Amino acid sequence: MKLNREWHLAHPMPRNATLEQRLEWHAEHAVNCGCRDMPPGIRKELEARGLIGPTLRSLR
Ligand SMILES: [Zn+2]
Repeated sequence: MKLNREWHLAHPMPRNATLEQRLEWHAEHAVNCGCRDMPPGIRKELEARGLIGPTLRSLR
């Protein structure tokens, strides 16, 4: 998947984003855009919370 410019324009990452905001942003980003990989720390945290499944990437 390529960069989803419209999504990025509509969802800027806040400056000084909290962990919660980063988790939310990356979870949304992974669904809507494939311009870059989710950082491992973010992925781990989302998986630990059950917000994404480990198989999400392999479904694409
Ligand atoms: Zn993106």
